[in-house]
This record gives sequence, structure tokens and C-alpha cells, in this order.
Amino acid sequence: MKKTQNISAAEQRPPDEKITVAGQWLPTSEKTPGERTLMKVLIADDDPSSCLLLESLLIKWGYEVTVAHDGDEAWRILCLTEHPLLVILDWMMPGIEGPAIVSRLREREGPLPHYVIIITSKEKESATVHALNAGADDFVAKPFSQCELQARVAVGFRVNHLHMVLMDKMQKLEQATETISRLARTDELTGLHNRRSFNENFSLAISTARRHNVPLSLVSIDLDHFKRVNDDYGHRAGDQVLQMCASLLLEMVREEDIVARWGGEEFIIVLLYTDGDSAITLAERVRSRFEQTPAPLVPYAITASFGVAQFKQECETEDALLRRVDDALYSAKSQGRNRVIVAM
Ligand SMILES: [Mg+2]
Repeated sequence: MKKTQNISAAEQRPPDEKITVAGQWLPTSEKTPGERTLMKVLIADDDPSSCLLLESLLIKWGYEVTVAHDGDEAWRILCLTEHPLLVILDWMMPGIEGPAIVSRLREREGPLPHYVIIITSKEKESATVHALNAGADDFVAKPFSQCELQARVAVGFRVNHLHMVLMDKMQKLEQATETISRLARTDELTGLHNRRSFNENFSLAISTARRHNVPLSLVSIDLDHFKRVNDDYGHRAGDQVLQMCASLLLEMVREEDIVARWGGEEFIIVLLYTDGDSAITLAERVRSRFEQTPAPLVPYAITASFGVAQFKQECETEDALLRRVDDALYSAKSQGRNRVIVAM
């Protein structure tokens, strides 16, 4: 006898076997939350004997059954947050009728659609067409063959399972895309914005400053004699110094400020809603903090040189602002390092 034919004999089910979509048995305790949801069925039928027969068959086939005795009760159950996705509806019931319930379900269908079988004593071809047009997935005429009903319910289970697998894959894909997008904008060593992310955020900040006529300033930072750290104490020490500086910078700026690793040992901060004077104050605080913080794996503190520039809204391009802050940084270097110089 084929395995699928054994499904109807619930009492013969070995306790440690599994149910899967392929028709194998799965003990209740081992089902995943998704599989448990898929094994739930709602029956809505106003005929007590038909309802009882359906219920006992579905329980025998391994499903968890919820029963509604009229259309209104069925709809109330389907409106609960947790409810069966596999639905067997009688066509004619007091309250909302089967096809109307399906239409309502389809109007608000989420990422996991319901699988609906309409069951009725109407035998006309037009009834089948009407039920399917209303959104039903399948149609079974009473009196039904038990084998046929079992096979049709199994199709519903399989379709729902495929939807669940698909939704799971879509969620994983979305997560992966989000991770890739984040990594593409992050400096791997320091976790700061990388150059690409800086460029995007800088352009946005410049647009905001122009549109709302608010101040924007840049602070450019270059660690002093950083090559010496790498040469004398190795690249591991150099990396740790960069990570420490990145942490200190993040600690000292506001959440909305953009701190990026510009390249090598150079950092840049975009300060929106900040005028030149406030940017100078921040740069001085950072300079002093660097000077006072012992660097890891290096027997001295690492200082840095700073250029500060406030955006000239009326006449300046992004490139021109970057050039000005770079020139200021260059002046800080040429004037002896460990200092803040304001751009002209
Ligand atoms: Mg009825």
C-alpha cells in the first residue's frame, strides 16, 4: 500500500513518525510553528451531521479542526489574529454565505493566503464557476467521496506550505539584501560610514541646508604621524588606533551627525544645523580627547589635525566646500599638527 493511503489511518500511525507535505508523519511536538498553523482547518457548515462527518474525517487525517456552525461565526474566527489558513466552507449557511466569505477574505489577503474549498449540494456547473470566481481554490459537491476530499484537502495543505516556504525565502532574501546594502555603506574596520555612504549623506545634507536655509559645517580630521604607528608597532596597532578614534568620534557627536572614514587615517564629519563656531567647539573637544586618550598597543596618545568649514549656501558647491575644509586641514598639518584650523 502506498504511503499516502496510510494517512487516513491515524490510529495506525507510528508515534515517532512525521507528517510532511510529502505525506509522511510528524509527531505534534516536532512540528514547527509554521507546520502547526498549516495543519489547522476551519470547517463552516450549518448541517450538524455533515459538520460532524467532516470534523471526524479531518481529525482522522491528522488536522487540528475548528468548527463554525454559520457564516457569521466562521467570519468571526477568520478575523482572529491566529486562525486556520485552510478553510472548508459550506455554500449555503445562515449569516454570511460561503462565496461571500471567500470574497471578503480575498479582499484583505496578506502574504500567506487562505486556501478555501467550498462544499455544497449544488451540482450545477454554474455553482462551481460562481464559487471559483468568488475566489475559492476548489469546489467539492455533496455527497463527497472521502478519498477525493482527503486528496483535495492535501492539495490545500501543500499549496499553503509552498506559500509559507516562499514567504520564508522572501524574508531571508530581504534580510540578505538589507545586510548587503548596509555592508556596502559601512567601513569594515571602523563601522563608520564609508566614502560611498558619506557622498550620499553629504549630498542630502547639502540639499537640506539649501532648501531650509540652515547652517551646515564639515570637520575633516587626519591622525598625526599615523605611518609611524604602523611602521613601529605594526598594522594591528594601527587598526586598533583607527577603531579607537572611530569610537571616540561616535561618542562625541549627535546621533544625526554623519561620521565617515574618508580613507586611510582620515575622517570627516558632516554637521547639519551647525554653524562654524559650534563645529570649531566640537573639533577642539575631539582634538583634546584624542590627545588625552592612551592609544592601544602604542605607548603614547595619538593626536590629530583638524580642518573646519561652514557651508556658504549662496555660492558654494559640494566640491568647493570639500576643497576648503581640506585646505584648512592641510594648514593645520603645516602649522605643526594637533590643532584646529578654520577654513577661509
Ligand atoms: Mg448549508
